[in-house]
Amino acid sequence: MNPIYLDSHATTPVDPRVLDAMLPFFTEHFGNAASRNHPFGWTANKAVAQAREQVGSLIGARFRDLVFTSGATESNNLAIKGTAARAPHDRRHIVTVSTEHRAVLDPCRALERDGFRVTYLEVDREGRIDLDRLRGAVGSETLLVSTMSANNEIGVMHPLAEIAEIAHAQGALLHCDAVQSAGLVPPNVKELGVDLVSLSAHKMYGPKGVGALYVAKRDPAIDLEALIDGGGHERGYRSGTLNVPAIVGFGKAAELCGESADSDAVRLRALRDRLWAALSTLDGIHMNGPMEPRLPHNLNVRVDDVHGESLLKAIAADVAVSSGAACATASAEPSHVLRAMGLSDEQARASIRFGLGRFTTEPEIDAAAEIVIKTVRHLRR
Ligand SMILES: *Cc1c(COP(=O)(O)O)cnc(C)c1O
Repeated sequence: MNPIYLDSHATTPVDPRVLDAMLPFFTEHFGNAASRNHPFGWTANKAVAQAREQVGSLIGARFRDLVFTSGATESNNLAIKGTAARAPHDRRHIVTVSTEHRAVLDPCRALERDGFRVTYLEVDREGRIDLDRLRGAVGSETLLVSTMSANNEIGVMHPLAEIAEIAHAQGALLHCDAVQSAGLVPPNVKELGVDLVSLSAHKMYGPKGVGALYVAKRDPAIDLEALIDGGGHERGYRSGTLNVPAIVGFGKAAELCGESADSDAVRLRALRDRLWAALSTLDGIHMNGPMEPRLPHNLNVRVDDVHGESLLKAIAADVAVSSGAACATASAEPSHVLRAMGLSDEQARASIRFGLGRFTTEPEIDAAAEIVIKTVRHLRR
């Protein structure tokens, strides 16, 4: 039997309704969306246009402002390196946050090697951004501010509207990695005034290997250099034959999230609170990050006097959770997010992230809590 899956910040299963929408586009409707001269191409092109509408309407964007990519890693790279490549001489400064995903931090590091100045804002013990500190960091030489909508480890949500205001006051753009919030608390790009938004389908019950970058229509237009040149697909921002089945799945996934985000958020928040209520009966267990504002499906805890890896290993057959981001886990480094919040290596290593999802049930939560509690007691003995 599979373990109970509580690692939804790493990835989510494809919703069966998404798979159903995708399947015809592998076989019957296999056309190239750029083929203009026959119905195979027209059908594919129409399906991509529909997906663009579906993804756009989830975040309040116009369909023509979306660029399909291979995922949020590419979207983040395109947003950051793409704007940097066209930066005016007097705007070679980027502000980001020390708790961003590696797919934002690493492109920023790459730009530092090209002579850009990058400010990595510190966060408080709860992982929150200090807006005054942000205001102090953004100046007339700042090209771009890049902050995530919600953190993938501790679920803390950042005040995007205020951040956009601070960036725009200095003529800087705001890029937002909205991967973690898009499925449950989708940002409205118009209301928030963000300029660039990265999305990933596989974090919202769509397939892996497809994502999008929203590029706001601005006057003058946002100047963005493509990372991949070729046939000029996606208005020249991203060449390459479109992955039509994946894009169709992304569109369907976005539509389903739009329909169920509100009710899913209420249900998952209740389950998450139930999980915390059960776990907090343990002595020496602490929540990492604030209770609010926090993604409704996230819980991150640390347990005193227990070696985190031993705990994860002991429960792995029964409960699938992680100690942090999937990429950080691969390198066995303690989470840079928890470290940035002031936790010690040891505390960071003794932390577990729970990510609930659309298919998580109450009996699963109760069973997972029981297994964790039993295992912690056992390891402490
Ligand atoms: C998963 C994730 C990414 C990377 O998305 P991919 O589509 O897997 O490349 C980027 N940012 C955040 C916050 C994520 O959680």
